[in-house]
Amino acid sequence: MIEINDISKWYGQFQVLKNCTTSVKKSEVVVVCGPSGSGKSTLIKTVNALEDIQSGTIIVDGIKVNDRKTDLPKLRSRVGMVFQHFELFPHLSIVDNLCLGPMKVLGKSREEARTTAMTLLDRVGIRAHAEKFPGQLSGGQQQRVAIARGLAMNPIAMLFDEPTSALDPEMINEVLDVMVELAREGMTMMVVTHEMGFARKVADRIIFMDAGEIVEDATKDEFFNSPRSDRAQAFLSKIL
Ligand code: ADP
Ligand code: MG
Repeated sequence: MIEINDISKWYGQFQVLKNCTTSVKKSEVVVVCGPSGSGKSTLIKTVNALEDIQSGTIIVDGIKVNDRKTDLPKLRSRVGMVFQHFELFPHLSIVDNLCLGPMKVLGKSREEARTTAMTLLDRVGIRAHAEKFPGQLSGGQQQRVAIARGLAMNPIAMLFDEPTSALDPEMINEVLDVMVELAREGMTMMVVTHEMGFARKVADRIIFMDAGEIVEDATKDEFFNSPRSDRAQAFLSKIL
């Protein structure tokens, strides 16, 4: 589903991604972890072209991401993204947050978009708040809305960039529970997170990054039981 092949990226002289290669199969859940500043956000943003690259190739569901002929808005509509800070539209109601993309990008009618939106809000436990505005919801509720908004586009994969790291501790699980369910339903997911409980539950593979490099790309068991690199071992000993 996602093929990342030997990609590199620079900010001026600074190389933020160094010859990164990995892939994600359909229905696979890949957790990306590593120290702050190691390039995790940059890596996952390259997948839907929110960040460009200077060398290498990325192919998502057969679409070449780094090809000038590629319809980027269409690609982005096929790959959902959930950020640390929710990034809902503050001036739109919760249900309208979910309807905007399907109406504008997918050409759905308001009625059709609303029906799908309400089903998804139900699924993430927010149906009762459909007519409220983002600012009236807790962080955990807003993040569940953000996930539902991604799903409203009927994506082929979902990208998550530290979706729980801005939340108060008591709200982390309500968001992780939604993500676990999504993973179990077979959604293809790349998740930047330090929530190793989540990783243990649903990750198929774990990628560990350090200083712009993919240092480990291992199955969950390999990663937790016998990380190969000293850097991953040191990282795990700090967060576990
Ligand atoms: P992570 O998500 O692992 O914390 P990022 O991908 O956000 O790391 O950033 C990787 C590195 O790239 C960091 O050193 C960061 O300071 C640098 N960086 C990120 N965005 C920019 C930018 N727009 N210009 C210059 N450097 C950047
Ligand atoms: Mg980041």
